[in-house]
Amino acid sequence: MKDIFCKIIDGEIPCSRVYEDDDVLAILDISQTTKGHTLVMPKAHYDSLLSCPKDLLNKVMAVAQRIGQAEISVLGAKGVNILANCGEVAGQTVPHFHVHVIPRYIGGEGGFALTMTSQDTSKMNLPMLADEIARGIK
Ligand code: AMP
Repeated sequence: MKDIFCKIIDGEIPCSRVYEDDDVLAILDISQTTKGHTLVMPKAHYDSLLSCPKDLLNKVMAVAQRIGQAEISVLGAKGVNILANCGEVAGQTVPHFHVHVIPRYIGGEGGFALTMTSQDTSKMNLPMLADEIARGIK
């Protein structure tokens, strides 16, 4: 079964289009976490950023960069969050790779807090952990 973004790409469901080329579509997120919250996605289906081929990933990220720049120059945002949730456990709800470009304003409505907690790293072996990840890089 097609996911909701494939249906939007195929014109079966309406969207507010921000940008489109042969490979990439950007639309306003229906939730508008802040004013201008945009989703950038490849037209071809990949479940997440992790499975997207590098050339296409570069195209998606280049569009995300340009949209972030436009949100600052046109909407008056003072910064943007650019993020991709990969997998349900990481908060991904639509299984079609997309990048959120979320303008951030001083004051105003909406927004979210991205709070990273710290663990007691004295109980961890960071060099060994770094090495473990390094050995997994393909
Ligand atoms: P994620 O949780 O990273 O998978 O983000 C999915 C996003 O898609 C959420 O922020 C939703 O608000 C958004 N969304 C879901 N359905 C639609 C739709 N029909 N049009 C635009 N955005 C949508």
